[in-house]
Amino acid sequence: MSSPQPLALPETDAAETWVKERTSQTLAHVRELAQQLRTAPPSRAIDVLKAWDQLSLELGSLGGLAGLLANVHPVEAVRTACEDTEVEVDRVRTELTQDRTLYQVFADLPAEQTEALDPLAARLLEKTLRDFTRAGVDRDDATRARLTEINERLTELNLEFSRVTRDDVRITTATPEQLDGMPADWLEAHPVNDKGLVEITTDYPDALPIRMFAKDPAVRRAVTVAGLERGWPHNDAVLKEMFALRHELATLVGYEDWPAFDAEVKMIGEGRAIPEFIDKIAGAAEGPMKRDLEVLLDRYERDVPGASAVSAADALYYEELVRQEKYDVDSQVVRTFFDFAKVHQGLLDVTGRLFGLRYEPVTDVVTWHEDVSVFDVFQQDGGERLGRIYLDLHPREGKYKHAAQFDLATGVKGRQLPEGVLVCNFSRGLMEHDHVVTLFHEFGHLIHHVLGGQGEWARFSGVATEWDFVEAPSQMLEEWAWDADVLQTFATNETGEPIPADLVARMRAADDFGKGYHARQQMFYAAISYWFHKEQPADLTKRLQELQAAYSPYPYLDGTHFFANFGHLGGYSSGYYTYMWSLVIAKDLFSAFDPDDLFDPEVAGRYRDLVLARGGEKDAADLVADFLGRPYGFDAYAAWLVA
Ligand SMILES: [Zn+2]
Repeated sequence: MSSPQPLALPETDAAETWVKERTSQTLAHVRELAQQLRTAPPSRAIDVLKAWDQLSLELGSLGGLAGLLANVHPVEAVRTACEDTEVEVDRVRTELTQDRTLYQVFADLPAEQTEALDPLAARLLEKTLRDFTRAGVDRDDATRARLTEINERLTELNLEFSRVTRDDVRITTATPEQLDGMPADWLEAHPVNDKGLVEITTDYPDALPIRMFAKDPAVRRAVTVAGLERGWPHNDAVLKEMFALRHELATLVGYEDWPAFDAEVKMIGEGRAIPEFIDKIAGAAEGPMKRDLEVLLDRYERDVPGASAVSAADALYYEELVRQEKYDVDSQVVRTFFDFAKVHQGLLDVTGRLFGLRYEPVTDVVTWHEDVSVFDVFQQDGGERLGRIYLDLHPREGKYKHAAQFDLATGVKGRQLPEGVLVCNFSRGLMEHDHVVTLFHEFGHLIHHVLGGQGEWARFSGVATEWDFVEAPSQMLEEWAWDADVLQTFATNETGEPIPADLVARMRAADDFGKGYHARQQMFYAAISYWFHKEQPADLTKRLQELQAAYSPYPYLDGTHFFANFGHLGGYSSGYYTYMWSLVIAKDLFSAFDPDDLFDPEVAGRYRDLVLARGGEKDAADLVADFLGRPYGFDAYAAWLVA
């Protein structure tokens, strides 16, 4: 069997036609495969599964390719064509999972055949049947019609919610005198208007520095409140309808409520386990929260005598002060150690050594932009190519604004080479350490995609694991960007001096400050996400106030409606807890490594082979247990929290 070749991408001018042709050809082939399965399914169960997996591979790879180019291609028409493709792929996927005839092909497989399937194929059959029933394929016609209606309306509501959340930008004003404390580059970018005032929008680059640096509490408060008001009142009704429809959908396909439906395909498993997890974290964070809030309040009281609590409008400002005064971390000095070119090379060296890999630059291929660098991934001492990675790391017009890993091709042994892309927005010169951490994080997803893309089924390839586990490998890889020994291998300043270990220790301590109250604030968000879906409260504001009092380190700011712009209620629905869930597991995974030798090849090799390389072939809990030699637990996280 010849090994599969990487995808050949089109030249810029040919890209639009290429995308459209590839879309119509792939979708036509997918429909053909579906039609064959409906009308003349293979006689053996394993061949039915293979045909379905081939269809999934083609559909998923088209979706991945389109999702990538829609976010990175320099030509707008190409991006638009790719967005259309994404919509088409979604539509076909929904059609297929609601297709009764297709479902029957799987449901009617004779028991003597399905019982003889190997464990992985049996797992695939089980997941496939579940995908169908979760889509309501086995319900009567009226119910299925209603489900289609609900899905379409939910898509509209999701779009409306995120559009309003994104576009509702509020503006506050301040006099130049009120902006004492603001950095020079911020002030330069914000000249006074003809009324002698400076306009401050609620956009992140405007508002965040105000909340961190503006000495005037009235300005901080005005900007914070304006930010919390975005989306209000419009999104109140949007969200209520969204919660009601999600509940209806879940009950129509046989679940108690939306969180139960949503949690079934997650590591957490059951809806009712979510509030238990939230309360467990909240309890563990109680002591550390009080400890750090006291430090914050002490500093606050010097400016606000007699204060009993730190206001949410002042928290970031005082946190920044405490970090500077207590930990003496000068971010201007820190960044001199993080030159982009050295960090880039360091990332490849560190991860290559850790995972036993070799990255070979590929220079003779077409990409979508000259900034993109391409590497083929090999085993350190092996000749077989494992995959291809693309690094697209600097900002440009029309490009995705955040940092993420995109799948370009789903890997299946002997059929398709895994290819993944890092899309980030880093400076070409000196980097903030935060961004170095982000780079390691995103690379964790990329390497998971490649190493997990060597199996035999597309359904289990790469990061196709439970959604609440998928962040854990990346969160764990962040640890390597916080380790002085690791950093010193590449983080050197202009004169070649490596970053001092004591500076790294202070950076870490400064970063750790507030982890207890940060965890509580996260659990406040997680509680909104869960209880709003579980209860569908008639008065969202009132319920928010109760949850804030129960979980948040900060008192409710009168007259605000934060949920109206809490974007994760769209995509994460009742599952905002997942970030913290993954972090708990990341800390547990990391506890298996020797802090004095993060490169121990035995541990790293087992982690690579037992967790990353398995993709979704087992439940994440089992992968973690295979690596740790015991079930995952809470202790490593709890120990980190109180330290
Ligand atoms: Zn991530």
